[in-house]
Amino acid sequence: MSAAYPLDGAMCEGVATADYDPFFPDSDDLAADALALCSICPVRQACLAYAVDTGQVFGIWGGTTQRELRRLVAQAGGPRARRVPTDHVNAGKTHCKHGHPYDAANTYYTVDGERRCRACRRARLTRARGLASASGGER
Ligand code: SF4
Ligand SMILES: [Zn+2]
Repeated sequence: MSAAYPLDGAMCEGVATADYDPFFPDSDDLAADALALCSICPVRQACLAYAVDTGQVFGIWGGTTQRELRRLVAQAGGPRARRVPTDHVNAGKTHCKHGHPYDAANTYYTVDGERRCRACRRARLTRARGLASASGGER
C-alpha cells in the first residue's frame, strides 16, 4: 500500500513534543497513553497496515504494542524498511545533526515517517528528568 503520513484523522497528529512522545515510549505508562489514542483512532487499521508494510519495529502504531508489532513485522517477512522514504528531505543524511549515526540501532521513526536519532532522544529525556528532580519534582 502507499499511504502517506500523517493519515487524515490520525489521533496522534500533533501529540508528540521533544519531551513527550508516547508513540516512542520508554515506559508502560507512556505506551498506555499512545494505545488509548489509537483505540479511538479512525485510521487505526490503515496505520497498522502501513507499519507492517514498511517494517516499522520501533514505536506504537495502529494500536499495537511494540512487541506485538515486531511479531507482525517478522511474520510479514521482517523489517524491510529501516530507512527514510527515498523522497524524504533527510533521506541522504547518514548522521543526525549532533553527529550520531543513523544506523539500525540508533534510528527510530515517527508516526509521520520522519527519521529520528535515539541517542539524542535519550539525551533529551535525561535532561528532562534531571530538571524535574532538581526542582524537587517527584516525591
Ligand atoms: S499510531 Fe496510528 S492508530 Fe495510533 S493514533 Fe496514530 S494514526 Fe491512529
Ligand atoms: Zn543524535
